[in-house]
Amino acid sequence: MLMAHNEQGTLIYTMQHSRQALQQLQQVSTFFCPQCKAPVQLKLGAIMTPHFAHKVATGCTKLFSEGESEVHLAGKIQLYEWLQQRKLFVMLEPTIEGVTQRPDLLVMYDEQEYAIEFQCSTISASTIKKRSAGYRAVGIVPIWIFKAPTFASYQAVIQQRINKMYQAGAKDFILFYAPKTKTFTYASHLYRLYHDQFIVRLSRMPLTKQHFPFYRPAPLTEEQRSYYASCYQHANAHLVANCLRFPRQPQALRLRTCAADLRCALVDFTYSIPCALPHTLGADIVWQNELHAYCKQVRCEVTAVDPHAFLQTYRYPVTDENEKVLNYYCSEFARLSDQPLTELFAFS
Ligand SMILES: [Zn+2]
Repeated sequence: MLMAHNEQGTLIYTMQHSRQALQQLQQVSTFFCPQCKAPVQLKLGAIMTPHFAHKVATGCTKLFSEGESEVHLAGKIQLYEWLQQRKLFVMLEPTIEGVTQRPDLLVMYDEQEYAIEFQCSTISASTIKKRSAGYRAVGIVPIWIFKAPTFASYQAVIQQRINKMYQAGAKDFILFYAPKTKTFTYASHLYRLYHDQFIVRLSRMPLTKQHFPFYRPAPLTEEQRSYYASCYQHANAHLVANCLRFPRQPQALRLRTCAADLRCALVDFTYSIPCALPHTLGADIVWQNELHAYCKQVRCEVTAVDPHAFLQTYRYPVTDENEKVLNYYCSEFARLSDQPLTELFAFS
């Protein structure tokens, strides 16, 4: 924590005092947690940013990240001061009625409250979802900013594993922040290849150029779309090579089952069209080959496929999302298969 009450009930913010002034305060004052009122200790170590910590673990410790890392403390202060400089009404580590957790920052902008969480430790995707829902329930918009992982130092289109925590905290894009360089990294235009593997564009922005509410990432340039296309083709080639090497692997078995119907050696590469819709069908090249094999089996045009029947036949989860992407693919197949791959990545 970066703030605590003193005996008089005055809020003391560590970053508003010099180390020397804090040392003096430490000798004459007792500090209390603004949330649970338990006594807290002012930590003035040589390495870490000055901060408060509970003397004894209380229920409050669970609601608020204790054992805070230096990155967390530094980032929180930088973001707080940056918002203050923009003359926005911002509260540090506020206690909010009706919400069990305390966000790092609460910002008021255009009559809307935003809770900013600068998440530096790994927590589960379900915790992220639960906290986000907790904020939304009281009309607060949650914004998750994650401590920049190693891959966020790139500025490129790459294939990257995006863990479920990041996925849960993302709306249309993932925002990372590195206090050391005072730089944001956007991971945007996420295209899921399979599981947690995505093609993403990483772009950076210094804190000094940032705006609140946070800027939205710019659309992909034509050059970046062609990088998406080559990443996509590369991933397909890799998948097929793996299926040849490991013929008993589930995807290899799936592809071999349809190869006979499609009269191809293992896979028809033309049946891999990116569809930027959420689904749990896995790799495009696999489910689309299966879909065309299914058409041959039931003797129907792709436009006439019953998504529900296809999902059941091929043992895919029957969900709204999966039916939706199938409906889209089947009804648009003629148009989509005519377009160059680069154009198919023109999603914003
Ligand atoms: Zn407390």
